Amino acid sequence: MTNAPHSSTMIFGEVAAAGAASGSAFVCACAAPVLIPRRTIGEGDVPKEMERFDAAVSEAAQNLLDVQQDIEQQIGSPAAAIFAAHGMVLHDATFRAEIATVCLTERVNLEVAVEKVIDKVTATFERMEDQHFRTRTADFRDVGNRLLNILAGGGEGTIPALPEGSIIVTSEILPSLITQLEHKAIRGLILERGGQTAHAIILARSLGIPAIIHVQDATKRIQTGDRLIVDGVAGRVFVNPSREIIQEYDKLKEHLKAHRHALEGIIKQPALTLDGVEIKLRLNAGKAADALAVTALNADGIGLYRTEFVFLVQDRFPSEEEQYQMYRAAADRAKPQETVIRVLDLGSDKLLPYFPRSHEDNPSLGRRGIRLLLEQPEVLRTQLRAILRLSATHPVSVLFPMIGDVEELLAAKAALEKAKAELAVEGQPYNHRILVGAMIETPSAVILAKRLVLHVDFLSVGTNDLVQYLLTTDRTNSEMASYYEPLHPAVLQALSSLALIAREGGKDISICGEMAGNAAYTALLLGLGFRNLSMGSGELLEVKNVIRSTRIDRAEVLATKILALSTVQEIKACLRDAGST
Ligand code: PEP
Ligand code: MG
Repeated sequence: MTNAPHSSTMIFGEVAAAGAASGSAFVCACAAPVLIPRRTIGEGDVPKEMERFDAAVSEAAQNLLDVQQDIEQQIGSPAAAIFAAHGMVLHDATFRAEIATVCLTERVNLEVAVEKVIDKVTATFERMEDQHFRTRTADFRDVGNRLLNILAGGGEGTIPALPEGSIIVTSEILPSLITQLEHKAIRGLILERGGQTAHAIILARSLGIPAIIHVQDATKRIQTGDRLIVDGVAGRVFVNPSREIIQEYDKLKEHLKAHRHALEGIIKQPALTLDGVEIKLRLNAGKAADALAVTALNADGIGLYRTEFVFLVQDRFPSEEEQYQMYRAAADRAKPQETVIRVLDLGSDKLLPYFPRSHEDNPSLGRRGIRLLLEQPEVLRTQLRAILRLSATHPVSVLFPMIGDVEELLAAKAALEKAKAELAVEGQPYNHRILVGAMIETPSAVILAKRLVLHVDFLSVGTNDLVQYLLTTDRTNSEMASYYEPLHPAVLQALSSLALIAREGGKDISICGEMAGNAAYTALLLGLGFRNLSMGSGELLEVKNVIRSTRIDRAEVLATKILALSTVQEIKACLRDAGST
């Protein structure tokens, strides 16, 4: 059902990925791993929606029978019984009745009603004490996704065919979904929620998709089919714009093109400050294709290879050989420069549908990063073996995420030594002196940095999480955005002490969180003592541009002045003044 176009309006939000785009709106409820179209329906549409429901249930039931028979032959009856249980959920009369009620009372299309009912049922199961009931949550989710995929016409695990040049308007988007978007012609993203450092946003930036977040009620104020302009400079969205605005927007596009052209002029130039200090500028990568930018931008290698995105696009754990090939594809492109490969950093807003996990009320304070890996030694072992094998031929190093203390770091290093010993016995080559680093992204790691640094070759500061944990502010919660402040004095004191500890310990230190790619912070970070920054490809030239017009002695004076300030307001004012002089 297409709605009549709205009159021209403008809605403000916050720029999360810069750029400009125009296209047609596709409004969906994307918190689930399937894109869900959202429409308002009339009372008379409900029987039609329920006919679609019954047809989708029949198709899903047939699919389930096929899967059940297949599994029975290959694995045996107990495993096949899981799918028989899914069939029972599908045919549950209460399930159907609840969906019809939501369609009728909330005037929403079938897909939205299915999602709402599944969310409600799973939330009820998740609250139950009994482990048996809690595990049923995944069954309901699976059934819901199966139905939604069928309704989307995309079959199993795909997203619906989006019209070319769509701009997605949604409440929230998960990283697993955004990796699928890469294969579609998406021009822009408009989100009601989402933090600047949420992983889906980081990915959007790396894909060059302009994104605006905190656009209040976007899914209600915009209809599928509306013509949109995403102004990812001023942070606004034009809905069904007038001809004058379209002309203005064309000028903005020209302006952005000219600015990009000017920046391209410094690609071949070194990242040297005015007083001749060399700064290492590396790229953050999530996919092998990101590594192409190392040559294109003349970067100093890959400072952070987030391996979780390799896992997110799969429906099962990739084997050692598959991982080896994927890491190799990235390292090949960065060669002869180094690739820092971070082992799997799951948990919080990065979840794999196939990774076993129990419900957590506060996942960012739960099983994350290295904690999770140490509990799953087989996953860590496979990954370390793949990285070590690659180290025989490529300059790669290993980075451990979310290190909280020396004990965790030593356990992670012991797993690395064990993997080395295995390869040695098998006669497989690897780099015996592969460099090992620890992410500093928890308050305990900052406090213990002097001890941690003794056990590693380098430190890498993950400011995205560090800000979150130092300031106890969820990085993905847009309502907390005003508290999530990288320029908070506590964050700057921590950064200053980390730079000093690394220097005194004679070890390298880099920043690989989003702060490193924000050109407004570059002079301050240099003044605090950082000489190695890793960021998204869209940010590198902007940062290099600032470096080339900065003097280290002046940056140090600025940092000293800022470290003496006690409020964010004063710090921002000081930084602003420095920028205008
Ligand atoms: C960070 O926390 O700053 C970081 C680089 O890791 P991630 O964003 O992947 O959590
Ligand atoms: Mg992190």
